[in-house]
Amino acid sequence: MDAVFEGVCLMAFKERVFSGVQPTGNLHLGNYLGAIANFVKLQERYDCIYCVVDLHGITQPMSVWGGPAELTRNIREVTAAFLACGIDPKAHIVFNQSQVAEHAELAWVFNCVARLGWLNRMTQFKEKAGKDRENASVGLYDYPVLMAADILLYRATHVPVGEDQKQHLELTRDIAQKFNNDFGESIRARGYGESFFPLTEPLIAGPATRVMSLRDGKKKMSKSDASDYSRINLTDDADTIAQKIRKAKTDPEPLPSEEKGLQPRPEADNLVGIYAALSGVSKEQVLGQFGGGQFSAFKAALVDLAVVKLGPIGAEMKKLVQDPVYIDQVLAEGAERAQALAAETMKAVKDIVGFVRR
Ligand code: ATP
Ligand code: MG
Repeated sequence: MDAVFEGVCLMAFKERVFSGVQPTGNLHLGNYLGAIANFVKLQERYDCIYCVVDLHGITQPMSVWGGPAELTRNIREVTAAFLACGIDPKAHIVFNQSQVAEHAELAWVFNCVARLGWLNRMTQFKEKAGKDRENASVGLYDYPVLMAADILLYRATHVPVGEDQKQHLELTRDIAQKFNNDFGESIRARGYGESFFPLTEPLIAGPATRVMSLRDGKKKMSKSDASDYSRINLTDDADTIAQKIRKAKTDPEPLPSEEKGLQPRPEADNLVGIYAALSGVSKEQVLGQFGGGQFSAFKAALVDLAVVKLGPIGAEMKKLVQDPVYIDQVLAEGAERAQALAAETMKAVKDIVGFVRR
């Protein structure tokens, strides 16, 4: 679809941002730079809804997500991270997904819109299911449909995510478009114009949309990586951050002076990207300062920068999780406000599809 037509499509909808983070533990620098830091910035311009997507959090085997007590702890920890990074739960909406039943309800309708062939192409399922695909949960396979429901339940126009979620956002648009087409007559008859759901735009921005593992520059930094040295956790203390960066894999060459020199060097590219994102400058500017020098000096500067930027966030998170009553209250208030919006969408969807309702 061309940009002008797309603009017209979105113009019919109130601008709204939605995004989510799974409560699967070990929140890391990738989650911060690829997602949460952008959530914070978008608050100035948009009405935002930020969700702890706990229904997604149980799609992997229980040995991975850790069981009930761990899930509860992780839901509160992601909420604490949202708040510690600067998300304002009064001006915007912060809640956990399982408190708004309409997410699962709309996902069912979308299960009947999405095609098996579309889901079979999803690379995240292939990566997460691994070789033992027969043993993966149905939920893991259906994850992208629930994600489409999360977004479209609020008819969100913009979704800030890391690069790894691009394919799922494309699927969300495909589902919206097919729903709008399949039910076009019913949508028009009920006065919703040409389309009920917007074709949501992903916001994948900045120099660190895909932060890579510190141990392997070809693998995404991830909560589920077995090695804690692969990632910087938001709750790591200064010594741990320093150790992880010092041990991060590099190559023997000095840093290049221009960005194209980073291309065949994924580990160097990753560290420069992290520095750029944390300091709010371009990779080119980082290389202007450190190009031609050894990694040791660059890594020392990166440690200082990471400690200054992440230290206060980690400290605030640790403080907030000490007060679960407050966190749960934030989530409850957010869920109430989210549900009011969700219920409106679900009523309309039921009318459009033809379900009889009270
Ligand atoms: P999991 O391994 O359980 O899927 P995750 O680290 O991918 O965990 P999610 O909760 O799935 O975390 O993703 C939350 C947000 O963080 C998404 O917008 C995702 O695109 C973003 N994100 C995750 N990993 C990275 C990364 N390495 N670099 C940039 N963004 C990332
Ligand atoms: Mg993920």
